[in-house]
Amino acid sequence: MSTANFNVHLPLGTPTVDQFLGIQPHPTKCQATYVWIDGTGENLRCKTRTLDKKPSQIEEYPLWNYDGSSTGQAVGQDSDRYLKAVAEFRDPFLGGQNTLVMCETYEHAMKPTATNHRAKCKEVMDRIASHKPFFGMEQEYLLLDRPYYCGVGANKVVGREIVETHYRACLAAGIEIAGTNAEVTPGQWEFQIGICEGIAMGDQLWMARFLLHRVAEQFGVIVSIDPKPHVTIGDWNGAGCHTNYSTATMRKDEGIKEIMAACEKLAKTHKEDMKLYDPNGGLDNLRRLTGRHETSSADKFTWGVANRGCSVRIPRQVDADGKGYLEDRRPSSNCDPYVVTASICRSTLLT
Ligand code: ADP
Ligand code: MN
Ligand code: MN
Ligand code: MN
Ligand code: MN
Repeated sequence: MSTANFNVHLPLGTPTVDQFLGIQPHPTKCQATYVWIDGTGENLRCKTRTLDKKPSQIEEYPLWNYDGSSTGQAVGQDSDRYLKAVAEFRDPFLGGQNTLVMCETYEHAMKPTATNHRAKCKEVMDRIASHKPFFGMEQEYLLLDRPYYCGVGANKVVGREIVETHYRACLAAGIEIAGTNAEVTPGQWEFQIGICEGIAMGDQLWMARFLLHRVAEQFGVIVSIDPKPHVTIGDWNGAGCHTNYSTATMRKDEGIKEIMAACEKLAKTHKEDMKLYDPNGGLDNLRRLTGRHETSSADKFTWGVANRGCSVRIPRQVDADGKGYLEDRRPSSNCDPYVVTASICRSTLLT
């Protein structure tokens, strides 16, 4: 056990955790951590149970329940809510046959809860599956020093360690993480998830967010995915979740025509779409999409080649190749990827 990295920025006893992780995983039993989106539509919860062995398919995970009254998903008496496992990942922390499972949440009679947007997203993705929709999402976030909760920008070195650890954890979990970069705002970083097809985009981005919170917790740092955190001192860029999208037609020769047609369709549904691009009916994005700091303005739809001030950007290379994908720059950093991907598909393929 090394304490070389132990400094004031690692107050949570990382060495102690390392010791515990030295205990060998059980040879056959599986620790399954069920992860779900709570009533805020933005925060994640989890709880862990022991299964006799690792299920060989997702359907074998038992339906589980939780107290919805403490997660903003139920009131009073009838507080039991159900967790249905829908996507399985390797647990990068516990290793062995232990797993992390993304879950959908249900009320009694198996009615999806108000923040279970995956159920509807799945319906859309199933309907348009033949178009083979591909997505890549760019998650921006801010690291905050815990000892200085209102301060900005967890120290650069710790920031880098969190980013590297998270990157590795995603790969170990089986998540398609495409890359990562520092942003212009101090303490702000980005990672990209994709290319993912259909419903997998939401499953993977949510689990990648879970891993980020989990890693940061161990470093004693807080992650904010608010699009314009009030703790940001000065006039800085907000945080978004650019959503790159293509269909099979867009990826074929002359796909640019289909990409431009999709832009025209997105223009028509702009107002409704904006209500879906953050978890608060469009209000969060009003703080961010000001028309400044490489953003478009929230009330007007624009698109163009290589223009980062547009709602939707066609990357320069895509224009040159005459095929590829488009980048919807409007989704907020705290958006629900199930809502956003379903909305894009509905607007471009089903209207
Ligand atoms: P930016 O220049 O906007 O910062 P990034 O490199 O951060 O771009 O993200 C671009 C994302 O686009 C990548 O993560 C990748 O997964 C995604 N992407 C690339 N090609 C396609 C495609 N054909 N369809 C959907 N997404 C794509
Ligand atoms: Mn990017
Ligand atoms: Mn960025
Ligand atoms: Mn940015
Ligand atoms: Mn981008």
